Amino acid sequence: MKSDIEIAQAAEPWPIEKVAAAAGFQPEEVLPYGREKAKIERKQPVDRDQFGKLVLVTSINPTPAGEGKSTVAVGLADAMQQAGQQTMLALREPSLGPVMGMKGGATGGGYSQVIPMDDINLHFTGDFHALTVAQNTLVALIDNSIYQGNPLNLDPRQIIVKRVLDVNDRDLRHIVIGLGGRTSGVPREGSFEITAASEMMAILTLSTDLADLKRRINRIVVGYTYDRQPVTVAELGVGGALATLLKDAILPNLVQTIAHTPALIHGGPFANIAQGTNSIQATQLALQKADYTVTEAGFGADLGGEKFLDVKTPLLGKHPDAIVVVATVRALKMHGGLAKDQLDHEDLDALHKGLANLSRHLHSMKRYGIPVVVAVNRFTNDTDAELQMVVDYANEHDVPAYPADVWGQGGNGAQELAAGVIAAADQPANFTPLYEPTDDVETKLNRIVTQIYGGQGVELEPKAQKQLRQLVDQGWDHLPVIVAKTQYSLTDDAKRLGAPTDFKIHIREFVPKLGAGFIVAMAGSILTMPGLPKHPAAEKIEITDDGTISGLY
Ligand code: ADP
Repeated sequence: MKSDIEIAQAAEPWPIEKVAAAAGFQPEEVLPYGREKAKIERKQPVDRDQFGKLVLVTSINPTPAGEGKSTVAVGLADAMQQAGQQTMLALREPSLGPVMGMKGGATGGGYSQVIPMDDINLHFTGDFHALTVAQNTLVALIDNSIYQGNPLNLDPRQIIVKRVLDVNDRDLRHIVIGLGGRTSGVPREGSFEITAASEMMAILTLSTDLADLKRRINRIVVGYTYDRQPVTVAELGVGGALATLLKDAILPNLVQTIAHTPALIHGGPFANIAQGTNSIQATQLALQKADYTVTEAGFGADLGGEKFLDVKTPLLGKHPDAIVVVATVRALKMHGGLAKDQLDHEDLDALHKGLANLSRHLHSMKRYGIPVVVAVNRFTNDTDAELQMVVDYANEHDVPAYPADVWGQGGNGAQELAAGVIAAADQPANFTPLYEPTDDVETKLNRIVTQIYGGQGVELEPKAQKQLRQLVDQGWDHLPVIVAKTQYSLTDDAKRLGAPTDFKIHIREFVPKLGAGFIVAMAGSILTMPGLPKHPAAEKIEITDDGTISGLY
């Protein structure tokens, strides 16, 4: 069996100019980055009348058994393209943190991959680095302002923007900076987040163009004065410099799948600590050029799915025409109580119990009024009886379901799924948002918890209660809410699998992100700087003396 990277290395990519032409881009819109990557500079205004159909791929709550959302999104797009529909992928960029940590790569798997997978998983076109520098430049400028006499009266204890790195580095979660005497800054407590959680990342993915990017950067609240007044980037006077650092990063990146389906890969916020979707610009570009755009949102439908529908959709100006919920027999058996080393044998009882997790997600996605389809991502050890049980269960919920072997066969393994998704996207949708934009933060949170997670409601810890009063005072309590929560559970306790209902979500802290235009609600013990596991993926990655990479998967 070939590894993901061996399959990717054996692929025969088209030159990027050919991919771009087939996708309908004009030569003057294409800025090649080497032979197989390009940035796309849109030359036409956004025209919603030209938008094709949008397919959102999301999933059940992930488990260490793996769900393969990106793999299914890629295989599905290849199958739709093979079926004669002009199709484009709109995906997120991988972060190096998980590539070196738990995950090892995020470009699909098996015969459903985007290429060049090593480049995309490593530094790609440098967008993450530009974002890292922009965010760190901002914090350096703030610290410098404090050091140079503090004209904005900033309280060093109330700086809320953080430095970032695209590295899982737990030791940087809580630090003290500015030590070393008079010439080395003003000491204060600081903290690093992963780049994917930064406000710059959120802004890049939500901006509609450079002007919007600049406006949003200027609106970032960096912290508060000694008398508790918010201070923005505009007051620091550095919005132009920060936008300048992102002038290339803001352009979507074009690559291709192994089967040459065009893929725009742009922006990479995680769905557990940020909004978890690719960029508005890339999605709009794909919608304008292709009949079908296949996009994904991170982790389960409770996180990326909800955020796509409630936060991204209004900005995009287009709701999905079909939602694909990816499930695997293995993950459902874990939700039914089995351990990771017990998944290789048929176990219909555990599978049946675990289906409650799928049921929860079908229920919550159906409430948006958009046709839903289940994709059962087939693994080698799945039995026919297990696959049939998932299909029957979905059908009982009036949802069509199709097993797909995208990993083993690429688009050929997803023909039925593709036909089912095309049929679903042709059905009329009656998009019903979860909340009104005018609802306050607490109402929005309660609706997310009760209607999407299946819980009893939200409980604000004392610090969050106090911060909520400040949000009201500032007039920020009607902004959209991004819940930062574990991806493994519908609850805020990563160990509670399945579909519990007797729980509340505990919000410990609110973080206003005015540039992004939302409030982050930190639930349970979720952290915005991940750590590395005992055996990080980095231990398996190698490069030969002639530059051939192995161990990325
Ligand atoms: P997600 O997008 O849900 O995080 P990915 O699509 O990135 O998941 O897949 C995670 C890993 O699982 C990849 O290494 C991929 O090769 C592997 N994988 C996905 N689907 C299958 C499958 N059907 N059989 C075996 N491995 C798979």
